[in-house]
Amino acid sequence: MKRSYKNIVLVLVVFVILITGIVALVINLKSRENKHYTVVTSNFASYDFARAVTGDAAEVKMLLKPGAEAHDFEPTPEDIIDIKNADLFVYIGGESEEWIEKILESNNISPNKTLELMDEVELIEEEDSYSTEEAEYDEHIWTSPKNAIMIVQRITDKLAEINPQKVDEYTNNANKYVERLSKIDEKFQEIVSNASKNELIFGDRFPFLYFVREYGLKYTAAFPGCSEQTEADAATIARLIDRAKATNTKVILKIELTSDKIAKTIAETVGATVMEFSAAHNVSKADFEKGVTYADLMEQNTKVLEEALR
Ligand SMILES: [Zn+2]
Repeated sequence: MKRSYKNIVLVLVVFVILITGIVALVINLKSRENKHYTVVTSNFASYDFARAVTGDAAEVKMLLKPGAEAHDFEPTPEDIIDIKNADLFVYIGGESEEWIEKILESNNISPNKTLELMDEVELIEEEDSYSTEEAEYDEHIWTSPKNAIMIVQRITDKLAEINPQKVDEYTNNANKYVERLSKIDEKFQEIVSNASKNELIFGDRFPFLYFVREYGLKYTAAFPGCSEQTEADAATIARLIDRAKATNTKVILKIELTSDKIAKTIAETVGATVMEFSAAHNVSKADFEKGVTYADLMEQNTKVLEEALR
């Protein structure tokens, strides 16, 4: 009698241990499934691509404040904490983001949790770097929709490694976005092949090297790349006016979130209009709150390109 009582107790203890183990395992799996994944991104383009892939399956933060100048960015201590805590940090790399390498190093952030987009596409040398010994690569890789497609696919692969439970969701989201970007790419090709002109006049900086190389376009711009210069000298204005007259253009372009002063001066002289061609470094606060996407900006750009090459 005593012996069988002992046996019952033993069976019960084993049973309780087993149940506890199973419950703990289920809770663990559940919490991993519901873990709140965070992706931190640097500029608007990287933010948009990460947001398109994750959809509702992660929180995506942009370090750059909406409306702010992308090339003057300096991280706050909170930004550095966000980068450290992120499941994935997506950034462009290059000159404007040199500060990132230092932060990743000094905080021992694992390369498994970071994705430098300039490592993922074929790079083009800056046009103003021929005189320097070391070639500087232009950082505006995302201005080519073909690169944007490659970047979306790489972000998807990286997120699938980090959070394999959501791989189907990421892949579906990415496929939808890639389909839209492919249509935009086709539209740009169509516009360029049907156009009577092939040169763009920018009364502004020029972050579109990847874009013009992709579609075989020529350009004349006030400043190369994203030069820090904002005031054009008389010779620069004269050079742009000459090119605008020679190409008989009806549109002088400017980029997003910059002054239209130079473009306006040229446009008034040659009887053209100023139009914005977005490089998607950033968007205004209002557009950010509206949820404007890179694809929206590029669709708008197709309309502007059509006018500029007419
Ligand atoms: Zn730039």
